[in-house]
Amino acid sequence: MTYQELINRIVQLQEEGLELFNAGKSMLGKNILATHVGDYNGTQILLQAGIHAREYITTLLLIEMARNLHNNDLVKNGGIYFVFLTNPDGAEIVLDGIDSVGCEITRNYLIMANNSSTDFSQYKANINLVDLNTNFDADWGGGAQNVFCPATEDFVGFYPNSEREVQSLINFTLRTRPLLTISYHSKGNVIYYGFEGESEENIARDQSIGEALSEVTGYPLIFTENSTGGYKDWCINTLKIPAYTIEVGDESLPHPIGEENLPEIYLRNKDVPLIALEKANEYAKEIDFTLPIVQNKSEEKKNGLHENNYLARLQSALERRSTNRRNNRS
Ligand SMILES: [Zn+2]
Repeated sequence: MTYQELINRIVQLQEEGLELFNAGKSMLGKNILATHVGDYNGTQILLQAGIHAREYITTLLLIEMARNLHNNDLVKNGGIYFVFLTNPDGAEIVLDGIDSVGCEITRNYLIMANNSSTDFSQYKANINLVDLNTNFDADWGGGAQNVFCPATEDFVGFYPNSEREVQSLINFTLRTRPLLTISYHSKGNVIYYGFEGESEENIARDQSIGEALSEVTGYPLIFTENSTGGYKDWCINTLKIPAYTIEVGDESLPHPIGEENLPEIYLRNKDVPLIALEKANEYAKEIDFTLPIVQNKSEEKKNGLHENNYLARLQSALERRSTNRRNNRS
């Protein structure tokens, strides 16, 4: 598969009636494509994939999910955002090879970081040699595998949120107001939940929702340790919402995981968005979290609702819950 073929698969969804929009831009100015299924009113959740260059199998998974959930009555009481490919620049290098990088100095810099090899099939970072899933401002630089010098993986960047892809995903999240997020990665057939420093109350919440995701996929649920700076970590740490990383594909498969594995991966994950939305709805009720009704859909799509409104509502819902629990105990 070439990079253009991968993008064409996303764009093709438009012919099937899905609306595509940009979640933001990459360092090289590529669009980060997204879509939405269900209702813009009610609880929203967000799924993102392809933040690591070689993991484009997760992009193919989200395409399949969006296709099958479009106009599907099973999507109830809210909607689901799909961000298909958070790291398009990196995916292009993996799919089309290092010669696809037009700038000679950048190309040579990347080859040097890749142990002088021109084989970029195992590449994870963005065009700046930053591992995007370590660049988020969530205990940034505190992970066990973090490195502090440009590299094909694990380089946290020179400062938190330094990369345009990371800023794009943060801004898109604030605009779309999800109450739960899922990040798709490969590989290992496992679900990660929680973040060090998260409150016990929220860990228990995340574990309970995670168990439902574990049941439907058959993937074991594991508490995250020694990992920081990921999108999931940022969602938990900043927004205090439940967020998960799902690693698809058997550990024995080589990177990048080929499309021939998609049917099996899709089968195990096809109900994840529905269960996640259902659980997010239960949680919204529990904390009495509602969003303003969307009056003007085109305005909503263009600008999103007010981010501050979203954060303030989230915060007050969580405070209310904590106060209620304290009062119930005493
Ligand atoms: Zn990954």
